[in-house]
Amino acid sequence: MERIVMKFGGSSVATTEKIAHVAQLIVAEVKKGNEVAVIVSAMGKTTDTLLALANDLNPHASKRELDMLLMTGEQVTASLLALAIEARGHKAKSFTGWQAGVRTESVYGDARIEDVQAAKVQSTITSGGVAVITGFQGIDIDGELTTLGRGGSDTSAVAVAIGISATICDIYTDVEGVFTTDPRVVSSAVQLHEISYDEMLELANLGAGVLHPRAVEFAKNHQMPLRVRPAHKKGKGTTIKEEVNLEANLSVRGIAFEQNVARITIMYETPYNGSLASIFTTLANHHLNVDIIVQSIQQDLQPSVSFSVKKEDFDEVIHVLDANKSNLRYQRLDFEEGLAKVSIVGSGMVSNPGVAAEMFDALRVATIPIKMVSTSEIKVSVVVPESAMVEAVEVLHAKFKLHTAI
Ligand code: ADP
Ligand code: ASP
Ligand code: MG
Repeated sequence: MERIVMKFGGSSVATTEKIAHVAQLIVAEVKKGNEVAVIVSAMGKTTDTLLALANDLNPHASKRELDMLLMTGEQVTASLLALAIEARGHKAKSFTGWQAGVRTESVYGDARIEDVQAAKVQSTITSGGVAVITGFQGIDIDGELTTLGRGGSDTSAVAVAIGISATICDIYTDVEGVFTTDPRVVSSAVQLHEISYDEMLELANLGAGVLHPRAVEFAKNHQMPLRVRPAHKKGKGTTIKEEVNLEANLSVRGIAFEQNVARITIMYETPYNGSLASIFTTLANHHLNVDIIVQSIQQDLQPSVSFSVKKEDFDEVIHVLDANKSNLRYQRLDFEEGLAKVSIVGSGMVSNPGVAAEMFDALRVATIPIKMVSTSEIKVSVVVPESAMVEAVEVLHAKFKLHTAI
């Protein structure tokens, strides 16, 4: 007997037919003698639909009220799935995140899970029932309900798996597993059988939407084995764990990408009179996140600092910089929108110093301009024009022979 967590994402529970099929998968696990806790997302695009409804009535809705609205999506799925399991003659009980003991910090819209008090879930599964829990939601210390950020049901699943000491957390989704890059965008992408927590965490943080980054972080910190599997097909999926057998000896394991990036450059008069600390403190005080930062100070050249921000924050960043121009003592501001970030990721890079150079060369040959660069031990990111993003991913996929990754 094993204790397992099965998580089903929105597209896997988009219709009642799909929910009925998911119920069959769950019942099959119960019949094997396993104890099963299930985490569900809202059906299909429900969360987007709810957001659009809110926007019709109030484009500046408070985060609390948005959370109260958005979390209803998951509740519909949990109830429907529980009754679909009952219809197959098995016991099932649905729970909201707060009933399941998912405690979060006091932040609306993007709360982090602090702990899971899983007594109710435990007693349901030990007595032979299936616990069906809404993903994406929790409760703070004051009894306020919170959500975990878009895609956050993955994190609910891992947190519950840790809370009930499950042997594995299976994330069922609409693709066969984790691929070398998004298979819906790049047709030569191939499925990986295994990937390490660290590589998956980088890919997820750099835009690979297949897993919520915090889910991977949690799994790594608690050594919870994670598996990404297809919900409506057969397939073993991809296992995410600490050490992996590198089937092919490649330094790059995957490529992630993100649209909607903008670059802002602040230019000072010479002699340099600006301070990085004051710019980034000002932005941080307004809760504005900055990604890649490049500072350039050279004799006789106008000193400047460039940084990238998400498109959704762009207007606000410009507004804050304008409003603080005299404090920040800069001369001129320049920006570029319509950019994207493309990142290569792989633990093999640590011991292979030429990888970044190969990346730049491949992009040069394809005449794709590189606007900014950022590196860490296991990744290199470049900012390129959004119009060249997919081509850049394809070029790099071929350059690093990722089609041979399995
Ligand atoms: P769910 O609704 O099940 O949570 P998501 O849409 O959040 O599903 O995640 C699955 C999607 O992630 C896939 O449809 C795919 O387009 C995207 N994706 C991005 N990068 C990758 C990758 N490297 N491997 C697999 N899927 C990826
Ligand atoms: N329903 C939420 C979303 O669409 C959470 C999730 O699916 O993980 O982002
Ligand atoms: Mg998801």
